Amino acid sequence: MTVYRVHRTQVSSEQDVFQARRQARQLADAVGLENQDQIRIAAAVSEVGRRLLAFGRVSVAFEVDLPDDASAARQHALLRFQAEVAAETDDEFAAGVALTRNLMDTWEITRSPARTEVTMSRRIPQPARLTEADLSAIQADIAGTAAGTPLQELAEHNRQLLATLGEVQAHRDELLRLNEELADTNRGVMALYSELSEELEATNRGVVALYAELDQRTSELRAASEAKTRFLANVTHELRSPVTSITGLARLLRDPASDPLTENQAHQLALLEDSGRNLLTLVNELLDLAKAESGRLQPSPEDVDLKPIFDTLRGTLRAVPTAEGTDLVVQEPTGVPALRTDPIMLAQVLRNLLTNALKFTPSGEVRLSAAYENDVVSLTVEDTGIGIPPEEQGRVFEEFYQVRHALQAKVTGTGLGLPYARRLVEVLGGTLDLESEIGRGSRFTVRLPVGALTGESGEPAQTLVLLVDDDEAFRTAAGHVLRSCGFAVREAADGRTALASIAAHPPDLLLLDLRLAELDGFAVLSALDADDVLRRIPVVVVTAYPHDVTEPSRLRHTTAVLDKTATTLDDLCGVARLAAAPRSAGHRGPNGDRKTEGNGGS
Ligand code: ADP
Repeated sequence: MTVYRVHRTQVSSEQDVFQARRQARQLADAVGLENQDQIRIAAAVSEVGRRLLAFGRVSVAFEVDLPDDASAARQHALLRFQAEVAAETDDEFAAGVALTRNLMDTWEITRSPARTEVTMSRRIPQPARLTEADLSAIQADIAGTAAGTPLQELAEHNRQLLATLGEVQAHRDELLRLNEELADTNRGVMALYSELSEELEATNRGVVALYAELDQRTSELRAASEAKTRFLANVTHELRSPVTSITGLARLLRDPASDPLTENQAHQLALLEDSGRNLLTLVNELLDLAKAESGRLQPSPEDVDLKPIFDTLRGTLRAVPTAEGTDLVVQEPTGVPALRTDPIMLAQVLRNLLTNALKFTPSGEVRLSAAYENDVVSLTVEDTGIGIPPEEQGRVFEEFYQVRHALQAKVTGTGLGLPYARRLVEVLGGTLDLESEIGRGSRFTVRLPVGALTGESGEPAQTLVLLVDDDEAFRTAAGHVLRSCGFAVREAADGRTALASIAAHPPDLLLLDLRLAELDGFAVLSALDADDVLRRIPVVVVTAYPHDVTEPSRLRHTTAVLDKTATTLDDLCGVARLAAAPRSAGHRGPNGDRKTEGNGGS
């Protein structure tokens, strides 16, 4: 801070007080203070001067403190006045002069027996504009200010008051205007708010109504669907007996033992029989569907080997008349484990799909194949036939729905085959999906989780062996042997699939090869080791690795190690029986202690 003494004056009369007052105001104006501040300062200086004058001659100093670095944000300049008298003052004086304290930013009084001094200052808001040159100009101005008369000073005072009044008035008007504006905005906001909340409420009411309607529709639909199922079941049941009678009677008429028929009669009888048969098919299909829908269709699960089912289908469907140039290919279901399902229902589904495919494939190929991945068996019926338009691919699963096309007129059908097939697959715990491209063919896929129906039969569950080996020939052979001696077998060709399969459905025994793709046998073992539950699954390592690789420390949780080159398939059942944890008795503890033919564990 640098202090500039701008002016110094002696006050020895009332006249001098006015003069000091004017100069103080002039200085305040010059350093950029507002009108109101100027009046405050002038009032304070004249009041202090007047009160001190009662004790003697007063010396008044006018100073400006400029910050050294005016641009520094927190620095500010000060306008300071110092008035002193060389006399002792009394308390009454002190109390009186203290009234000016509120007019200034800082205010201080020191009293001693020989001297009384009042120092007060006010901040200058924009010191950056003040330079030393300004200050010397101000200094000259103030020094040159002629002393005015009290009347002049009064007039000046009045003028200032009026100006201040005008300022205050302007502020008040501005405030009123702002207030009004605010009220307006407020009204706008309130209006918007109430409009929005009304809209929200209306929407809300709409949604509630919609939901109520939806609920209503849903229960109506459910009731209608139940009624339809009941109707189908009752009516078809009642229809079946008369239709059976008609076809039976027709057969009797044709009996060689009956009276001979004219050619015409024989022809009509053939038509009658034909219609009867068609009617019976329709009635039977309706009855099946009604049963499936009413949940009365109970699957009888057994361990189903797909091969005999595929063989039967291949044999029976060959008899179905197909268009010339359409081949039926039934692939061998190799690599697909036995699955627990109802074989009759499954065969029925595949027969429906294959019959359709043959019907709607004028030339090309119809193919049935099976695949196994991640515990799911997929059965695919693929054809190169006419295809189904995308918008009708969902509808063909509705009852009685048939796609309109030229071929439709030539083939027979009820529109019940696909809905029935889908219901059956659902009863079996699987899904039936369709992909098709018009003109190129259709693909129907049945997906059945291997264990979907496990435990639904009353029989005790079989011991489940997971066979992990990258050698498909070995898996097929070993799987066959194990199934033939009563094990349920699942297979995995690599370590990752094996772990997924174990996680999905922990087996009672793991037959593990060490050399595997993705994750090798060691990795599978350490993954099992890391899990409290899976660690308890007995593991028989079946490997062609030499003994030093299969040392016990590397195969900690292994129940036994079989040398693949020395073990015959006939040994497998015995080993598996010994090693497997019986399902009912729960799993054995880790580190199975019943070593069997192990040649690496000793
Ligand atoms: P339908 O007794 O008429 O065959 P479905 O329910 O089995 O009854 O099939 C419904 C309709 O779906 C069929 O009429 C046919 O239009 C269409 N469809 C079914 N399978 C195929 C297919 N493989 N290729 C083309 N269209 C098919």
